[in-house]
Amino acid sequence: MATLSSKLDEWRARAATARYETRHFIDGRFVESVAGDHFTVINPATSQPLCEVSAGGPKEIDLAVASAKRSFGARVWSRKAPRERMAVLAALSRLIEKNAEQFALLDTLCMGKPISDMLNIDVPAAAMNFAYFGELIDKIDGAVTATAADAFHYILREPLGVVGCIVPWNYPLLMAAWKVAPALAAGNSVVLKPAEQSPLSGLLLAQLFVEAGGPPGVLNVVNGLGESAGAALALHNDVAKIGFTGSTEIGKQMLIYAGQSNMKRVSLECGGKTPQIFLADLPDIDVAVTYAINGIFGNMGEVCNAGSRLLIDKPIAADFLSRFIERGKTAYRPGDPLDPATNLGPLVTASHRARVMNYITRGKTEGARLEFGGNAPDLPGCFVNPTLFSGVANHMTIAREEIFGPVAAAIVVDGLAEALTVANDSIYGLAASVWTRDLTVAHKTVRDLEAGVIWVNCFDHGDMTQPFGGYKQSGQGRDKCIESLLSYTQTKSAWINLG
Ligand code: NAD
Repeated sequence: MATLSSKLDEWRARAATARYETRHFIDGRFVESVAGDHFTVINPATSQPLCEVSAGGPKEIDLAVASAKRSFGARVWSRKAPRERMAVLAALSRLIEKNAEQFALLDTLCMGKPISDMLNIDVPAAAMNFAYFGELIDKIDGAVTATAADAFHYILREPLGVVGCIVPWNYPLLMAAWKVAPALAAGNSVVLKPAEQSPLSGLLLAQLFVEAGGPPGVLNVVNGLGESAGAALALHNDVAKIGFTGSTEIGKQMLIYAGQSNMKRVSLECGGKTPQIFLADLPDIDVAVTYAINGIFGNMGEVCNAGSRLLIDKPIAADFLSRFIERGKTAYRPGDPLDPATNLGPLVTASHRARVMNYITRGKTEGARLEFGGNAPDLPGCFVNPTLFSGVANHMTIAREEIFGPVAAAIVVDGLAEALTVANDSIYGLAASVWTRDLTVAHKTVRDLEAGVIWVNCFDHGDMTQPFGGYKQSGQGRDKCIESLLSYTQTKSAWINLG
């Protein structure tokens, strides 16, 4: 069996010799930008340039949308027999699994995620998305309604047309899968705009879709900056819906674009400031601390539902914090994300690291107590050490704004009522958790928390049936689940006069 270090050598060798496709994927083939424009992707683990990627803008978006519109108009996908479309998405799911190592390499090199996370979490989950939504294709029905005897009324569910998917860099392949899989399963044609920090895995995904039997032009990918390629896609009059995952700020911009263009539908999965409530009667303090550590330091804290606010009941606060400090200090160690033993990679870019460090400074100046971390390790990449602040008040910047880094804010609360007030005192409402032995308290807390996803005595658990999305400014719409697929369809009512 290969040792971990020899595996690291193998990954480094692969990374050194890897060839990446960097052009757009339009109409079933790779193409350069019209004027040959490029942008540079920097590997955040080394701070060295990784590759030059074709930079798209309005012209490339026009070409991709035209290709998607043509394929939709020709009905090569939307009217393909359901079982044939199911077979294509099932084949794509298998191809994602088969190419797991290549996907892992692409996202890890671009955005610094530990390669073991890619192999254990992102890639299997992306494959599962295509399998799940593929399986749903022939399970979605229309309806026949009750009418008077002189009429027959049925409701058809139809695809929307061209769907634009705009996704972030924190789970590049998986966030693309969350949007593209239901959009394709519903029969739409798609233009995907990956984040400029992580443009490579979307290209491989589109290539594999065609290899799986998907018709050319049904899944197109245009890379480019948000303000050029992203804006052009969201403003396009031939795009019927934007499925967006990203920041709350840009999510709001998507709604403006829709109003400025064709009133396209918009679904938004945006930021969060997830509270985890640890009540004094929690079942097992060590288990809860483990979840708390993983909930904020996993994926470098670059997780929309990162458990960034720890609301700890007064009677257990000292014990909870001392266990968190003892284990949390060393549980996540920064290292080369290509090393299968690494569980903390760099942050995505130097500017993002500067932003996170700025929040740490704010935490200190606003009076929170730095328990550990708060600095960067002596490594060449964009690393930040896992950080814990205690003595946090909910009005402090580190409790209010999404940091998107490995920074936990511990807030001591006096019982459930205060915990709920603090938890809900946020513009965000993506997720929350409560830890308690009391069944009644658990159910009441689920009812009273203002968030789209609530976990009881666990954190970040779920499967494809779980609607994932936010209350308040964490967004609108749901990923995964049947509701997501339906959001890429529209109903048509057919009223037939039998009189
Ligand atoms: P971002 O909003 O900066 O970018 C997201 C996407 O939007 C990228 O593809 C980007 O190129 C594009 N974009 C940026 N500016 C644009 C503009 N003016 N017009 C059109 N498109 C534009 O977000 P990010 O930094 O890539 O990702 C981090 C954010 O994503 C965090 O806020 C995180 O919470 C959120 N997120 C949410 C979920 C969820 O399910 N709720 C999941 C993952 C990430």
